[in-house]
Amino acid sequence: MKIVPVTETISIKRSIDSGTEEQRAAVQSILSDVRKNGDAAVLTYTKKFDGADLDQLRVKEDEIAEAYENMDGEIISIIREAIQNIRSFHEKQVRNSWMMTDESGTILGQKMTPLDSAGVYVPGGTAAYPSSVLMNVIPAKTAGVKRIVMATPPNENGKIPSAVLVAANEAGVSEIYKTGGAQAIAALAYGTESIRPVDKIVGPGNIYVALAKREVFGDVDIDMIAGPSEIAVLADATAKANEVAADLLSQAEHDMRACSVLVTESRELAEETSKEVQKQLESLPRKEIAQKAIDDYGVIYLTQSLQESIEVINSIAPEHLEIMTEEPMELLGQIRNAGAIFLGRYSSEPVGDYFAGPNHVLPTNGTARFSSPLNVDDFMKKSSIISYSRKALEENAEKIAAFARLEGLEAHARAVEERFKKE
Ligand code: NAD
Repeated sequence: MKIVPVTETISIKRSIDSGTEEQRAAVQSILSDVRKNGDAAVLTYTKKFDGADLDQLRVKEDEIAEAYENMDGEIISIIREAIQNIRSFHEKQVRNSWMMTDESGTILGQKMTPLDSAGVYVPGGTAAYPSSVLMNVIPAKTAGVKRIVMATPPNENGKIPSAVLVAANEAGVSEIYKTGGAQAIAALAYGTESIRPVDKIVGPGNIYVALAKREVFGDVDIDMIAGPSEIAVLADATAKANEVAADLLSQAEHDMRACSVLVTESRELAEETSKEVQKQLESLPRKEIAQKAIDDYGVIYLTQSLQESIEVINSIAPEHLEIMTEEPMELLGQIRNAGAIFLGRYSSEPVGDYFAGPNHVLPTNGTARFSSPLNVDDFMKKSSIISYSRKALEENAEKIAAFARLEGLEAHARAVEERFKKE
């Protein structure tokens, strides 16, 4: 990994993919085809892109039962334990409705209502992502969303990985459909004969999924447009190079465009980590992907002090931040921009990916400057409550009418005054 001394400003290289002209056109045409032709269009694209010849999109009960038979009992227990952890973390996020009142009888408040329905996209391809299922479904379930619909592309035999089906069933998904890419997003947003539309679509996917989500936003809500995975490690001389290197590689193996960064004031740690990364890369099954990510986007920033390291981290605003210093907890207050913060050498990033409980759907591409991990609020709406008594309105009618007239809105003013008109 290259070592770069920090000068006054740093500029972190990230990959932002907004698709080619061709990809955007393909997505547009798939969206309008599904909107017009419903299931028939979805089935055609599923044949074309996933190679599966299906007669129905919905996963049947017996397919779920079969998935359980294919799974190791021990793995099912691990999934259940992860669900418990994720659920108890998200339960802490639930906000209640509230009201306040004063002596004039005014009642003001905020009513919390879960969305009626949510669609969860789970990427297909060569890998299976049961952790993605849990991290997207559990906050929706915890918010109280009744109808949670999952869409994921089948393989060419028309099957969905058993781990994905079991995770979906355990987490409480109501309906599962075998469809991927832009056609899945279109079906979830606009509905077809067999898939009723949802209110919000969440979940990661490739460029076709991302472009389609961007297009349907407004007709439905979406979570975010996620970029490639990122990790930044903030370390001092007490950190162990082999552990830092292993954690940097844990993200690099995700994607050729993943971004792994070490920020340290220790030249020795910087040099050791650089060597360790190369050493550990050699034996990784996904070496090719990780090597390319490290070569293109990996960097070690060498700073003058711990304080400068913190400033660099805040300007990067990483998706995942690991703090491996002597007293990580003491630095927490100074971290302003990071999706998830992992403290100390025993909080390696994969702990959060699968098991600890906090959500692994996190802001990427520096968006941690202004946004947060996926959470229960993402699946709830707030309605304001306003109830004025006669006394309260009488006391304030003139002020409200004056404000309305300030804006030239006479009917607004009269609506208030109408209540107190002398017969
Ligand atoms: P995917 O499910 O995202 O996409 C598969 C679909 O892409 C196909 O069903 C097809 O409809 C569509 N498609 C493929 N080629 C097409 C073409 N030429 N024209 C139109 N549509 C086409 O699965 P994938 O491709 O394996 O990608 C998975 C993605 O999800 C990766 O980018 C991975 O990094 C990402 N991912 C992210 C996270 C996260 O938490 N951020 C987790 C897991 C996966």
